[in-house]
Amino acid sequence: MIDLHSHSNRSDGVKAPHELAEAASLSGLSAIALTDHDTVDGTGEFLKACDGLDGMTGIAGVEFSAESERGTLHILGLGLDASNTPLCEALERIREGRDERNRRILARLNELGYALTWEEVESFAGGDVMGRPHFARAMIARGWAESIAEVFERFLGRGAPAHVERFRPSPEEAITLIKGAGGVASIAHPVSWSMDYDFMRDELRRFMGFGLDAIECYHPRVGTKARASLLALADELGLLVTAGSDFHGIDGDDVLGAPDGAPDSLLAPLLGRMSPYGISKAR
Ligand code: AMP
Ligand code: ZN
Ligand code: FE
Ligand code: FE
Repeated sequence: MIDLHSHSNRSDGVKAPHELAEAASLSGLSAIALTDHDTVDGTGEFLKACDGLDGMTGIAGVEFSAESERGTLHILGLGLDASNTPLCEALERIREGRDERNRRILARLNELGYALTWEEVESFAGGDVMGRPHFARAMIARGWAESIAEVFERFLGRGAPAHVERFRPSPEEAITLIKGAGGVASIAHPVSWSMDYDFMRDELRRFMGFGLDAIECYHPRVGTKARASLLALADELGLLVTAGSDFHGIDGDDVLGAPDGAPDSLLAPLLGRMSPYGISKAR
């Protein structure tokens, strides 16, 4: 089994990068990608841990949030050189945008009467990427909500009273950065971007002009019917297919391994397009 989408505590996951590699090995995976939001800080530790595990291929990745005319879409970079300067500089700028946004979220929550502190929220983050899921966990710890979904619904989601926008790159910028760092670019969980396949076909064609390689057809949020449509779209357009769990290690139904029998054979053509600096043992 393979898994090309997972998060560590360097963004909003719970496990340290080396713990994630070990958990993947215990789950019987033969390949795993670390794709933290807006950072590649964990990839060095992660690839080193994968080097020490028999039969494991570790892949250095990242997950961008991009802004398109039809809302936010997530773009995975897989097998990239984490020391690439334009990539690191762009991620730094995105994290600054997060920090500004986070300060404003905190101020809004305080105005609404929720006396949360910066230190409290920070205590839920294991690295430089602090985000709304960390706010959510801090709110739950205070007893102000029962679940992350409830915090997004009542406070942090679009349309809620403490919602604040942050800077996000365009899909073109994100894909160009990934390709410049030698990675494979794949649209993550496409169903959370759009369910309009005609719109997606046009957009994906446009993104292929910047180097888009793949779409993530296997993901817990992609149902059986949507997956069939996405696989057909990938086939029609000549895109590769990626598969991942989006593991964060938070709740019980969060399990490692791409869902629904995603075949291991997806990996070989993807590996062929990745930077050797982004693959364990190949470095
Ligand atoms: P941020 O990048 O800090 O703006 O936070 C966005 C992240 O929060 C996403 O990548 C999701 O993992 C998570 N998220 C977004 N909406 C929801 C929701 N309604 N319920 C739970 N988690 C969510
Ligand atoms: Zn996440
Ligand atoms: Fe995502
Ligand atoms: Fe993710």
